[in-house]
Amino acid sequence: MKPDHIKELIDLLNKSKQIVIVTHWSPDGDAMGSSLGLYNYLIQKQHRVTVITPNDYPSFLFWMQGNDTVIDFSINPDLAKTAVEKAELIFCLDFNTLSRIEALGEEVRKSKAKKCIIDHHLQPEDFADYMLHTVKTSSTCELIYDFIVLMGDKELINKDVANCLYAGIMTDTGSFRFPSTSPQTHRVVADLIEAGAEHSEIHNRIYDNNTEDKLRLLGYSFVEKLVVLKQYGTAFFSLSNEELNRFNYRKGDTEGLVNYALSIEGIHFGVFIVERDGKVKMSFRSKGKFDVNKFARTHFKGGGHANAAGGISELSLDDTIAKLISLLPDKE
Ligand code: 5GP
Ligand code: MN
Repeated sequence: MKPDHIKELIDLLNKSKQIVIVTHWSPDGDAMGSSLGLYNYLIQKQHRVTVITPNDYPSFLFWMQGNDTVIDFSINPDLAKTAVEKAELIFCLDFNTLSRIEALGEEVRKSKAKKCIIDHHLQPEDFADYMLHTVKTSSTCELIYDFIVLMGDKELINKDVANCLYAGIMTDTGSFRFPSTSPQTHRVVADLIEAGAEHSEIHNRIYDNNTEDKLRLLGYSFVEKLVVLKQYGTAFFSLSNEELNRFNYRKGDTEGLVNYALSIEGIHFGVFIVERDGKVKMSFRSKGKFDVNKFARTHFKGGGHANAAGGISELSLDDTIAKLISLLPDKE
């Protein structure tokens, strides 16, 4: 962030403000951790803060302090619109193009509030007044830590802030194993634990919180739905609406499934294709040089990072699978 922007933001945040925090569609651990981490910091500075999500998110994230105050735009659009209209400052966290927040994006674009992007995805759109952005960091939560330090407020990282930020760093780094995990990530995490982050408990809340239905859906996926195409170094899972319903699908139940496709020996490209609410959504993961951000942008109206990206398909589930397979021979 430019030094004069840091100074401007420090001045802005020195007086109580009406602030809105928005994060991306289908928020994950990093999206909710960064939003509520920033929320728990800003309320200590007497700001009036509203966190808005475009839609719902998995219940294994509901434990975060401040979660009860979050407005879901898809359920309460009027409440969310009023908050955006009244805002003097809007933080956009863990995304960088307004299309990632769907209809909420128009409200944010229209608003006269100053806007600040804090994000680690590639190719940011130019809609904000301030931007703390690098693709070299593990997570948006790591950047929120940097932001609080830049504001000169490290001592305001209390247990609530630390728990939220820890959760986002843990989930976005695959529990500190993805290449994006740096020595600095571990330094930040050490500080968060010193500030009171309950690391072991957070791991339990997020990963040891399975329902029986979820485990049976995963089991079914492994046995019946895994396709391995060794000749293309590719493996994928697909699930239809009907299959999700059969296992009483709840948001978050298929989170992480794509990583199992990538974990197979000799596989460097893992895909998860799911039909939900009349849409076909895709998750891409890769190891090494194959750039799934580019693949998602080129073929599936998506994006993300070089080794983890997502996209959508307007075709049926079967046609999407056929399209994916047809792209594999020339994918590098
Ligand atoms: P996931 O597969 O976990 O949904 O997403 C992986 C990464 O890709 C995340 O960083 C996410 O923000 C990004 N991503 C997922 N879906 C989309 C999409 O439709 N468009 C864009 N631009 N990014 C996406
Ligand atoms: Mn993230």
